[in-house]
Amino acid sequence: MRGELGAIPASEILEQINDSVIVCDASGRIQYWNSGSEKLYGWPADEALGRNVHALLGTRLSGAAADVDDRLAAEGHWQGELQQVTRSGAAVWVHSHCKVEVSALDAPRLVISSDITERKDAEHALRCIEERYRRFVDEDLTGDFIVRSDGAILTCNPAFVRIFGFSSVQEVLSTNFTSLLRTRKDGAELIAAVREHRVAERNELEMRQPQGEPVYVAARFVGSFDEHGELTEVQGYLFNDTRRKRFEHQVIQAQKMEGLGTLAGGIAHDFNNILAIILGYASQLDSMSVRTEQIPGAVKVIKEAVERGAALVQQLLTSARQAEARFASLDLNNLLRELEKMLQATFPKTIDFKLHLGPHVPPLTADRGQLHQVLLNLCVNARDAMPHGGTIVFETSLVSGREVAEDFTGAEAEEYARIRVRDTGSGMTPEVRSHIFEPFFTTKERAKGTGLGLSVVYGVVNNHRGFVQVESEPEQGTTFSIYLPVLRQREHLPNGAAIASAKPREPQTILVVEDEEMLRDLALQILEGEGYRVLAARDGLEAVAMFDEHRDEIGLVICDLGLPKLGGRDVFMRMKECKPTVRAIVASGYLEPSIRSEILKAGVIDTIQKPYDFRDLLEKIRSVIGDAVAKESHP
Ligand code: ADP
Ligand code: MG
Repeated sequence: MRGELGAIPASEILEQINDSVIVCDASGRIQYWNSGSEKLYGWPADEALGRNVHALLGTRLSGAAADVDDRLAAEGHWQGELQQVTRSGAAVWVHSHCKVEVSALDAPRLVISSDITERKDAEHALRCIEERYRRFVDEDLTGDFIVRSDGAILTCNPAFVRIFGFSSVQEVLSTNFTSLLRTRKDGAELIAAVREHRVAERNELEMRQPQGEPVYVAARFVGSFDEHGELTEVQGYLFNDTRRKRFEHQVIQAQKMEGLGTLAGGIAHDFNNILAIILGYASQLDSMSVRTEQIPGAVKVIKEAVERGAALVQQLLTSARQAEARFASLDLNNLLRELEKMLQATFPKTIDFKLHLGPHVPPLTADRGQLHQVLLNLCVNARDAMPHGGTIVFETSLVSGREVAEDFTGAEAEEYARIRVRDTGSGMTPEVRSHIFEPFFTTKERAKGTGLGLSVVYGVVNNHRGFVQVESEPEQGTTFSIYLPVLRQREHLPNGAAIASAKPREPQTILVVEDEEMLRDLALQILEGEGYRVLAARDGLEAVAMFDEHRDEIGLVICDLGLPKLGGRDVFMRMKECKPTVRAIVASGYLEPSIRSEILKAGVIDTIQKPYDFRDLLEKIRSVIGDAVAKESHP
């Protein structure tokens, strides 16, 4: 006995409690049914008594509940959760305790049940939510993961496994995250960014599969911090961008090939002409009837034709390599004339060309190959906009920096060359016009447009510190204007030097500083052949020493930029210390515009791009120290 119930009869107590209390006989017939049962199941006692308990309550004996009767018979008790049905047909979940006296064969059973429907519903709802989230994570295309600050990956979803080509989540968990980054530095930078900003976004991040294959992702990293503000974990979300990236690469390649195709057409045409010239004159030289006085003329023409061929090949190479910009002096009008000739030969005959070339356009400092590409892209677009023919007009002029600055912030040069390419084609709507410089924006069908032409134009012009402008209306044609800065040599000259350079009686010794022996000898030969006195130095220190010794005779220094022992720029600075009026021309294979303007500011008179044509060099030399005296004396 656990205690006394006192005067209160047990049956009354049973009627007071909330739980359902049922007593059945061995076959399941209900013999007792308290008011808690009535409340729970809706059946009043008089309707429930005498009926089979399982039948009345529709007890689902499945799963864990399937063996209720067996367990009861064997062990005398059972407890667990059951799903049942009320009188009104609603489902209820109950937690039941069943008890029976095992020793007595037909002993009655006691069943006490409490309603757990609400809890079950809540659990179910929670499970659904969890399931939904799990599906989000599992079926997400984004690779999701959590990584500790030491790089240990704590968890990840199937997409992450797929993106990096792992075989299972397990395999991922034994990998350090940093091994999936391209460099250790990437990892350190990411962690630093998350520490500082809590969230780090990377629109483009190159990662690595364990086998070394590159994976391009767009990523977001979110930090978790402990109460001291220490970074504990980073959650990461990676969107696999590899396919788009590959595609982008292919398209760039395709664009290059497309440009090349047009270019090759033009070159083949030009080349045939050149070969015809060479063949014609060579045959003339070959024939018996050639007269001696004709020989020099024929040789000259052949030489010129060969030079033209070499220049063409150079152009093809620059275009194919998409080489780094090689800035050199460039005659814009000449470039346009050449381009027009080439396009005449390759574009449909229904397209006419007109040239309005301004007479006062000074030489530009620009990359010929890239500028050619820019103009070619504009012309190809113009051609596409005029399927039934029309006119392409090239126009050049010189405009003041002030005028350009009205339209473009950042226009700092004093003068700009403006190139206009105008067509009489279909024009553009404002909507199209607002997107044309975006990479991949095209209104053309797939095989025709890549959408890269104008983004290349924009990139190149920008690289030249220039500006692009477009005017276009539907059916009114289109005009592209390109502004490129003009660098006037005399702007960079120290006061008076430009005038001094024209004086004929300057000392005419030239100091050539060049570490390449063959080039040095060649310069020596050619310049001496022109009548100049030449000193030659092999490296920077030798040059400074020679200059020190001969400073009064040396009228001009021609100095390579990359030199052993002491670089060209320092050589010049030392010479300037020794003789402030020193005049120098700096030669280099590749001159960044910023370096060029820096050395010009330092007082170097001019620069020349290597490999240079000696005729260009001689022209520059003459403009500084005049013709050699020896030559002047017998013109
Ligand atoms: P693509 O020529 O491969 O389409 P571009 O970057 O060269 O790519 O040009 C982008 C878009 O700009 C073209 O698809 C076209 O709609 C528009 N566009 C460019 N130039 C002209 C033009 N001269 N006339 C009409 N539309 C043009
Ligand atoms: Mg195009």
